[in-house]
Amino acid sequence: MISAQLRDAAMVVDLKALKHNIKQQQAALPAGSRILAVVKADAYGHGAVPVAHAAKEAGVDGFCVAMLDEGLELRNAGIDQLMLVLGLTPVHYAPVAALNDISLTVGSVNWLKEYAELAKNESLPPLKVHLALDTGMGRIGFRDAAELKQALALVNQPAFVFEGMFTHFATADAADDTYFKRQLGRWHDFLDAVDQKPPYVHMANSAVGMWHRKTIAANTVRMGISMYGCNPSGRELPDSLDLQPVASIVAKTTFVKHLQAGESISYGATYTAQNDEWVATLPIGYADGYLRRMQGFKVLVADQECDILGRICMDQMMIRLPESMPIGTEVVLMGSSKGKTLSATDLADHAHTINYEILTSITPRLMRRYKN
Ligand SMILES: *Cc1c(COP(=O)(O)O)cnc(C)c1O
Repeated sequence: MISAQLRDAAMVVDLKALKHNIKQQQAALPAGSRILAVVKADAYGHGAVPVAHAAKEAGVDGFCVAMLDEGLELRNAGIDQLMLVLGLTPVHYAPVAALNDISLTVGSVNWLKEYAELAKNESLPPLKVHLALDTGMGRIGFRDAAELKQALALVNQPAFVFEGMFTHFATADAADDTYFKRQLGRWHDFLDAVDQKPPYVHMANSAVGMWHRKTIAANTVRMGISMYGCNPSGRELPDSLDLQPVASIVAKTTFVKHLQAGESISYGATYTAQNDEWVATLPIGYADGYLRRMQGFKVLVADQECDILGRICMDQMMIRLPESMPIGTEVVLMGSSKGKTLSATDLADHAHTINYEILTSITPRLMRRYKN
């Protein structure tokens, strides 16, 4: 898809804020801790390659992606640190990982057997693997110590390098830590079953890095949403790191008109002016990932909050201006303007979703503009 450059609408990505957030997390961890920057889904919509380069400058030890193609994109862009695929990779694609020094997550004994068989016939470099342990997320991974023991016997074959083991928490962002503690107990049971620990032992996502730092029995944090300056819990728990939002969305007005009381706006004519008012059109819509569900929300013009009027269209939307303003007036749809802020979490609340989904919904058509 094209990234439209010849229009005044963009997602602005502040790489200095990204580095600041990484440094905040680093400073809050014990000395010697490592951070893997989670840059899956095009770095949560921020652009994987520029984000990875900035995170590398901030001193992260490596990267996590969701799938092999995402890892390859970064390898091709010259990122040469640890690159872990968090999802599962079918055995027949795994040689690509071995050949590109990409580490894979493994969650079953059969997978290890099948890959070892395939590698024997193909003289591949050893494949780096991280064993996923299911302590209660219920998504992927070994489910008990007996299964893990079988896997440990297999990863010591020459086809593999046993690089890591990890788990993932389902409720680390919740105020109630009952389930978290249950998972933590199982994680410790797994750790006790492994005599020879691999170099990377990791259990912390952003939420663990923010609210359960004292429980981190591991040497590595997988930093995702907090690196992008968002609170993993939305509003349930207060920020425990000084985070700065990385992404904002801006656009300039393309059309301004005076509307008379009784006239309507946009598809379905769902909005009808009660008074005379000034209305501006913005060149951004739901095909850019500014969700149609944002109808009824607001935007910022200088220090004023302005209502979105009527339905959001595919490529355009309308807002009420406080007064007549020239075409080309700057509008902030997400981010800060003159002391006012609309955060990704504010947008998420309006759309009944989470800040993660707001960010990853921004489509490639909206140009990413990098700052700092
Ligand atoms: C996506 C993901 C993360 C990052 O989660 P955040 O909540 O954004 O920190 C960490 N670990 C795994 C296994 C993931 O899938």
